Amino acid sequence: MLFQENIPMKEYTSLKIGGRARWFSSPNNKEELKKVLSFATTMDIPIFILGSGTNTLIKDEGVKGMVIKLGGDFKNVEIQNQEVKAGAGCLLSSLITQVSGFSLSGIETLYGIPGTVGGAVFGNAGCFGVQISDYVKAVTVMGNDGTEQIVKDVNFFYRGSSLKDKIILDVLFSLKKDVKWRIEEKINEALKKRSTAQPVSAKTAGCIFKNPEGKFAGELIEKAGFKGRSVGDAVISTKHANFIENRGSATSEDVISLINMVKRRVWELYGVMLYEEIVIIN
Ligand SMILES: Cc1cc2nc3c(=O)[nH]c(=O)nc-3n(C[C@H](O)[C@H](O)[C@H](O)COP(=O)(O)OP(=O)(O)OC[C@H]3O[C@@H](n4cnc5c(N)ncnc54)[C@H](O)[C@@H]3O)c2cc1C
Repeated sequence: MLFQENIPMKEYTSLKIGGRARWFSSPNNKEELKKVLSFATTMDIPIFILGSGTNTLIKDEGVKGMVIKLGGDFKNVEIQNQEVKAGAGCLLSSLITQVSGFSLSGIETLYGIPGTVGGAVFGNAGCFGVQISDYVKAVTVMGNDGTEQIVKDVNFFYRGSSLKDKIILDVLFSLKKDVKWRIEEKINEALKKRSTAQPVSAKTAGCIFKNPEGKFAGELIEKAGFKGRSVGDAVISTKHANFIENRGSATSEDVISLINMVKRRVWELYGVMLYEEIVIIN
């Protein structure tokens, strides 16, 4: 079945929030993806590409358009010497496990970022001083008209890229050789830091806000007294104030109200405007 209708999106996001997608498709390869795009274009249906939904808030009223989640061949990884071509649907942690098996180093610090390669490259995911863009050589994208293009000069910036309005199909990484034990050590170090600082087992969407230049959003939110504040079941994490946890049956409205309260107060107190890192969809 190329696509389904009225599919609940809750299970497709790490926050476990969101209504139904009017249309949902998980193409296994480029040919299927092209058919889905052609259908969407003919019917004038807007599309949204979903990775693992770990940086996304889907509204309770659902998605009016077509949600596309790349599956099948889009999860493949090909390793040739130090060059690695990874499908956009592959989980970042799975890619890191695979390349570290070949003693390839660079992106291991990102282990623990719970998204896909496509989501990570789209948003230039990073942590502990490493950004995924540091190792990206080229990105293959598809336009809504089904045409493919290899982009070698992607403009990456803090938590973003110039790949807006493109579907990332695969990513070519250029990695370095290192010894396995050192790569594994870096993975373990990153996981340890992450579990000390972040509510890793809660239902969250990662950091809600981007860090303003020279400042940490989490620190500003904590200083403003928001740790533990809630709207419904949406709670500002007591572990890291830039995370909102869904402690039960939080709605997208609860999360958005909390976001707006934080933005207003941080602006009033510190004159700093916070901008969302998460993507809000309806
Ligand atoms: C506990 C936790 C910890 C986190 N820690 C970090 C961290 O340390 N650093 C960090 O940067 N992020 C972090 N995140 C946020 C998130 O995991 C990353 O941003 C991740 O890269 C998002 O990937 P995803 O596949 O889940 O993307 P999604 O949330 O599914 O999508 C995010 C955006 O990417 C776009 N997108 C996804 N796939 C494609 C594609 N194939 N083509 C085009 N566009 C696409 C979507 O359209 C959307 O706009 C964390 C999240 C959680 C829950």
